[in-house]
Amino acid sequence: TTVQKQHPEVGQRLATIKHVILILSGKGGVGKSSVTAQLAMSLVQENYRVGVLDIDLCGPSIPKMLGLEEKKIHQASAGWVPVYADEKKRLACMSIGFLLPNKDSSVVWRGPKKNAMIKQFLTDVYWGELDYLLIDTPPGTSDEHLSVMEYLQEWNPDGAVLVTTPQLVALTDVRKEYTFCKRVMLPVLGVIENMSGFVCPTCSNCTNLFSTGGGEAMAKEFGLDFLGNVPIDPNLVLLFDQAKEPGSSSGSSGVGGNGSNGDGSA
Ligand code: ADP
Repeated sequence: TTVQKQHPEVGQRLATIKHVILILSGKGGVGKSSVTAQLAMSLVQENYRVGVLDIDLCGPSIPKMLGLEEKKIHQASAGWVPVYADEKKRLACMSIGFLLPNKDSSVVWRGPKKNAMIKQFLTDVYWGELDYLLIDTPPGTSDEHLSVMEYLQEWNPDGAVLVTTPQLVALTDVRKEYTFCKRVMLPVLGVIENMSGFVCPTCSNCTNLFSTGGGEAMAKEFGLDFLGNVPIDPNLVLLFDQAKEPGSSSGSSGVGGNGSNGDGSA
């Protein structure tokens, strides 16, 4: 006997997607979105077709990181057409950022409205064939997480990647993510430690600004796979924070500049 699914329309959309992975972090500013963007780009380099769904409704940063800030999605008969970050259409992206009138607009919604938006993201986007759908979530465990799992759970998403930084506070918070995953029966695929150490651009020595190995220790404690660490890299900030539209020259030679998204609340 087959159990009646509650959200068959979600299953229909997921039918052309091989793997669904959520990216979680205990708190903001640890680099969850930049890790999502890097994962997406690495997979594209390996010739996979990738979709990034940004469900951080109050602080969408994926459009900016992929240099797609001015883009808009459009409606086709098959659904909402995502924005593509490359000419070969291997990296598709969907975010509330594409639906807002301008980049300074923000969303102040209660749970039910967020829930409806997330449902629409999961049912109306025309992804086509994808190898991976990476879902970038807001920090912590909020309405968005509960909503996305409400719709995905019965379709068995592959699991979650937990992003943390080496500091103890971040690690404490990531434990909560782990507890959340257990509660909603979402497998944890592993832990990535971001901003672990600073590689000096002139001497290449690695300085551990915070502390080190926390992510790995935490992974061990919970019996999770440690997937690796990403050092602090000033070039990464330049790349992401000043990302340009694909095709346009990346004329960002200077340092600093304004227009930083600097907030930590992304
Ligand atoms: P989150 O999604 O967890 O809120 P973001 O991915 O938006 O965090 O990152 C916050 C800021 O830190 C961004 O400006 C980003 O460019 C920067 N950042 C993230 N990871 C690194 C890193 N490894 N090295 C340098 N800067 C980083």
